[in-house]
Amino acid sequence: MRFFSSFVQGFTFFNATSRIFRSPQYLERALPATRLTPLRSMSGIPFLGSLFSSSSSRKNMSYPLQKTDDEWRAVLSPEQFRVLRKQGTEAPFTGKYDKHQPTSGAYTCAGCNAELYKASHKFKSGCGWPAFFDAVPGAVTRHTDRTLGMERTEIVCSNCGGHLGHVFKGEGYATPTDERHCVNSVSINFGDEKKEANGESKV
Ligand SMILES: [Zn+2]
Repeated sequence: MRFFSSFVQGFTFFNATSRIFRSPQYLERALPATRLTPLRSMSGIPFLGSLFSSSSSRKNMSYPLQKTDDEWRAVLSPEQFRVLRKQGTEAPFTGKYDKHQPTSGAYTCAGCNAELYKASHKFKSGCGWPAFFDAVPGAVTRHTDRTLGMERTEIVCSNCGGHLGHVFKGEGYATPTDERHCVNSVSINFGDEKKEANGESKV
């Protein structure tokens, strides 16, 4: 339930009511009704999708960069570790890249420095987290859970498996993909291309 509660707190604005939804009594009542609810109408209620998340598929994945939790703790801040390695979510409108709109450069994984998103992929979504309509090819891996007719897609760094956020589709944004990669600022770093060209660190 730790993942569920962090997801609710981060990706919805129902903090006040989330305590109700976490109660066993609510779950018992909600389950039968949820089965009858069409996928489309559920898309606006992300916290319900998180109730039935499955982490088995992501645990079976192996990534090129492997570290133990202790090794990750040694190189990440506590907040980075919570989000990247324990699928946490930062509070909305608090991340340093939420309103960041560079004209060039790239965002890299805060865990392993792999390039994930170009500045040109970023768009203003108003959702409270950095939003990208696409990623560097192959840089981001998706884990899709389909349970009870709902779909929810987690995105992770393809190199280290670090949790980035989730992808939402078909929301109507005027972007080439109509997808929104909703990414935690704490999961990424930004480097501008001039610095990279000069051989300076991107971090
Ligand atoms: Zn990574």
